[in-house]
Amino acid sequence: MSREFLQTKICILGYGFTSLIAYKKLLEKYNHNDILMLKNASAKDILTLEIDSLIFSPLPIFPVLESDLYKSDMFNSEEYKESIKVSYTEVKNFNLTKGEIKNGSLASFMLSNNSINKWLCIGLKQWGENFLNKPFNQIQAKIKNHYLSKNGNTRIGYKNSLSPYYDTVKDLTPSIVKYKEISSIDYKNSLVTTDSKKIRYKKLISTIPVDKLLSFCKFNFVPNLEYYGSYFLYFQYSEGFSRNNLIYDCDFDSNILRIFSINDNFMMVQLKSYKSIKIDSSIIENQILKLVPSIKNLKLRGKLILPMSYPVENISDKKTLNAIKIITKQNIIPFGRFGEWKYVDLHELNWRKIQ
Ligand SMILES: Cc1cc2nc3c(=O)[nH]c(=O)nc-3n(C[C@H](O)[C@H](O)[C@H](O)COP(=O)(O)OP(=O)(O)OC[C@H]3O[C@@H](n4cnc5c(N)ncnc54)[C@H](O)[C@@H]3O)c2cc1C
Repeated sequence: MSREFLQTKICILGYGFTSLIAYKKLLEKYNHNDILMLKNASAKDILTLEIDSLIFSPLPIFPVLESDLYKSDMFNSEEYKESIKVSYTEVKNFNLTKGEIKNGSLASFMLSNNSINKWLCIGLKQWGENFLNKPFNQIQAKIKNHYLSKNGNTRIGYKNSLSPYYDTVKDLTPSIVKYKEISSIDYKNSLVTTDSKKIRYKKLISTIPVDKLLSFCKFNFVPNLEYYGSYFLYFQYSEGFSRNNLIYDCDFDSNILRIFSINDNFMMVQLKSYKSIKIDSSIIENQILKLVPSIKNLKLRGKLILPMSYPVENISDKKTLNAIKIITKQNIIPFGRFGEWKYVDLHELNWRKIQ
């Protein structure tokens, strides 16, 4: 089969916030024509969703005021100033005894901090029983780097129902090559072959899950990646919960992990774990009204399931680490939460790595 041949200085594989911000940052040094973005034609991107003609960011992706990324000229920081307001309900129906917590687990790590009951309750709701037994190294690293750091963690909320990150990328016009499938990445010869193209690159930045990247590079094993998903319901209401409020539900018996108001009439509910998928939405509605009794005319408007949201353990098997080392030496840069397999936010990435 004959395929069109293309050449590029930089090829970005993946089409999410990491790829788009990378593109924007690369424009500081390269021309638009030097960069090609490879996008899976059938993958649904979730930069925004549309429900009943409301276009909104479905995930609460917040820039951090004190971060270098926010302070860089990516943002017009005069424009985005409203920080989110976070609150926690009282801990209820939670009776964990310290004896149930295994040494070295994420739960035992959390015991060394304040507000123990609150964090243990939320942790167990989000991560399930494994939270008591497994180290969840990626989550520990996130807590250390982020929440316990002295750098500040002021999260800037949505404007017009959209994450400020969306505003920074929405007008970008990268050259996009869509693919149905990637047949191979020949990293020794810097060549990506898709169903319709052959693309020679000088540098390949990949934000797709690292196991997929390695399989495209024809490494013949399946990396053992541990991750968790997330499950969201979206509700509309007429009044009672103004925008950019985030409430953690610390009732252990409730199926809600947290709720977030995207605007003054629309909210996101993150359920407590993947297991909650079959829950009747009227149970969730009743619980929302317990959290915010002032809400009026609440109606379910949509759902979203993301099977892979949080990397939870470090990659430790030697084969995978070695394969990553090999491709990195050959001008491939695995980048971002899924590319590097790190539970990090956008402002925590080392953006110098790609420039
Ligand atoms: C509830 C929640 C809250 C969050 N809050 C924040 C926050 O406040 N701040 C923050 O910075 N981040 C937050 N995040 C993380 C956020 O999702 C990421 O920072 C951001 O979306 C990462 O963008 P990305 O481009 O790396 O990943 P993605 O947008 O997931 O893009 C990955 C790319 O890989 C491709 N891909 C996926 N699977 C495959 C496959 N099997 N084969 C080929 N390609 C594939 C996708 O099509 C996509 O192009 C949050 C996440 C969740 C779930």
